[in-house]
Amino acid sequence: MQVSFACTDHGLKAPRNGEHSKQNATSPNSASQARARFRTVALIARSLGSFTHRYHHNLKESTAKLTGMKYRNLGKSGLRVSCLGNVWSHWGEKKTFSCLCQVAEQLMTIAYESGVNLFDTAEVYSGGKRSSLVITTKLYWGGKMQLEYVDVVFANRPDSNTPMEEIVRAMTHVINQGMAMYWGTSRWSAMEIMEAYSVARQFNLIPPVCEQAEYHFFQREKVETQLPELYHKIGVGVVSWSPLACGIITGKYENGVPESSRASMKPYQWLREKIMSEDGRKQQAKLKELTHIAEKLGCTLPQLAIAWCLRNEGVSSVLLGSSNPTQLTENLGAIQVIPKMTAGIASEVDHILGNRPHNKRDYHH
Ligand code: NDP
Repeated sequence: MQVSFACTDHGLKAPRNGEHSKQNATSPNSASQARARFRTVALIARSLGSFTHRYHHNLKESTAKLTGMKYRNLGKSGLRVSCLGNVWSHWGEKKTFSCLCQVAEQLMTIAYESGVNLFDTAEVYSGGKRSSLVITTKLYWGGKMQLEYVDVVFANRPDSNTPMEEIVRAMTHVINQGMAMYWGTSRWSAMEIMEAYSVARQFNLIPPVCEQAEYHFFQREKVETQLPELYHKIGVGVVSWSPLACGIITGKYENGVPESSRASMKPYQWLREKIMSEDGRKQQAKLKELTHIAEKLGCTLPQLAIAWCLRNEGVSSVLLGSSNPTQLTENLGAIQVIPKMTAGIASEVDHILGNRPHNKRDYHH
């Protein structure tokens, strides 16, 4: 299983072992894991209809006076995260390591001073080699990241080779050892998250609090039709990624692929092909129309796109990717656009995109 983790600025101190003993794991072994898994999922699925809300605390968004940054609860947990998170992205294959470090430091500083408290530290996003981390990652955290504790640890991608009970038990162990406070999933289906939740409830383990999912103008289905139900019923929120579709939603690919852009890099040939495809050209035409809405609101297209993600109440935080300080500063400016994302503007956007998924119930503002 791959894990990535996120830490908020107040989460850099290591709690003592056993601090989370309230959520202790004391589970018996299941005789037949496969059968038990499906039975529990079925049970929970049946009970969803009559689910009584367990969450009554105040989940209102708050705004920092100094920076204007907005904070939301991570799902329905008590962890308050900045609604814009992360700062680093793919910084170009030609840059040297020291140059990358310098940019990283600049980006971190700008973000932190702007009120960002959520940093997604999975090494794969910073151009590092994807490594399979097993769950005994304390050494990795301590040795490489200089952290003994992170607020949220993510199980990245579902692992079909490992029984769900084992995954949930492992994440519970990480939390009970004091290495993290919460756990989340990344790229899991709603069904898999539901299964994790039901296994946790059945065996007195700790359920996930959020899912990392791709969400932007051209990728809406999962976040808008499947995850809202999980948010309302079991409190699992969304930390969304790629709000600009890897840079497509910036307008910079309107007339081809600029030299230093992400799509110009070798590992991103798939992105270049996507942009140059017929669908890619259609997307550019829609973006041109959306630019008029951005102009009307006095913002840029990336800012409109990021604020649009945040109009969704189930989205706790949008993970930004920025290659340089200018981009980051522009993207952070999306905060000012959130109040302008009225229902009218959202439906203008829907009209242009023409891809609003059908929902049983509309959870949007
Ligand atoms: P985006 O979709 O926002 O793309 C970011 C890229 O777009 C930048 O690297 C830059 O590329 C370009 N860009 C950003 N802002 C601007 C701007 N204002 N003007 C022009 N170009 C701009 O996000 P990412 O795809 O990077 O994803 C964001 C984060 O989400 C990641 O850093 C990571 O933390 C997380 N993530 C999680 C995944 C998961 O599986 N859980 C998967 C992918 C991402 P350029 O080089 O062209 O300048």
